[in-house]
Amino acid sequence: MSKHFTILGLPVEAGCGRSGCLMGPDSLRSAGLCEVISDLGGALNDLGNIVQPSSIVPTAGPAHLKKLPEIVAWTQHIQALAFDFASQDSFPIFLGGDHSMAAGTLSGIAQAAAQSGQSQFVLWLDAHPDLNTLSSSLSGNLHGTPMAYALGLHGFADIFPPLMAPIDPANICMMGLRSVDDAEHNVINELGLEVYDMQRLNALGVVKPIAGFLDRVAAAKGRLHISLDVDFLDPEIAPAVGTAVPGGASRREAHLIMDMICESGLATSLELSELNPYLDVKDKTAALLCDLAGSLLGQKSIKRGKKGG
Ligand code: MG
Ligand code: MG
Repeated sequence: MSKHFTILGLPVEAGCGRSGCLMGPDSLRSAGLCEVISDLGGALNDLGNIVQPSSIVPTAGPAHLKKLPEIVAWTQHIQALAFDFASQDSFPIFLGGDHSMAAGTLSGIAQAAAQSGQSQFVLWLDAHPDLNTLSSSLSGNLHGTPMAYALGLHGFADIFPPLMAPIDPANICMMGLRSVDDAEHNVINELGLEVYDMQRLNALGVVKPIAGFLDRVAAAKGRLHISLDVDFLDPEIAPAVGTAVPGGASRREAHLIMDMICESGLATSLELSELNPYLDVKDKTAALLCDLAGSLLGQKSIKRGKKGG
């Protein structure tokens, strides 16, 4: 794992249908994310937050989609930045922002991986697979579509930026799902995606599934991106999300996943998405995300205890 960390705030909230995610990156900083990472001893470069693209061109698409031109513009912007950062010898940490940011991050890092001749793997930690296409989205909120775009599913061409390197469905592992639309179920089955919904995780535990996935990443000498949506976690411990679904991962399960990835040394990028500080309770969600990021990047559990994690 690179010891040079680059933080980039992506204050996107046009994809989730409510206000608040705009403040996600700054809330994570206020909760001490930069200090947690600096304490690990590597170099940290916090590039601040990017600004909303100024040129938003009218975009034709299914009429029920909300803020499509804004998300297309964000995706274009984020994709270029993600490609750039993933092409350098640093570990990018993207702070959201709603999960529509992943259309840009996933496509950008996958392009960089392809250019270096490596496979891009993604560990998707989320209550939702975000596999809706532009036509299948029921809510019209585009934070439900980024994985469909990054996989190259139909309907995005000519509306979203060209996809240079679609992610191979065989390189994705989804964990924590517990709210899946019918159309998304069909995609999961058609593509044969590796999915551990909460029911399976409750039965199996997290160790075996994570170990198996990490073995595959290692065997392929691939790159590994971790995309963490706040709603992966149980709302009791992480209330600051607009799409909370009961029955999510516990603090212990989430830390165990992060610890195992850390020990593997395979992670190459991270994104924290959907944090809505308006909905937080005494900043506990932001603090937990900082702890989990620290755990992923090498903070030992003894030290974590000092910060109340
Ligand atoms: Mg999501
Ligand atoms: Mg979600």
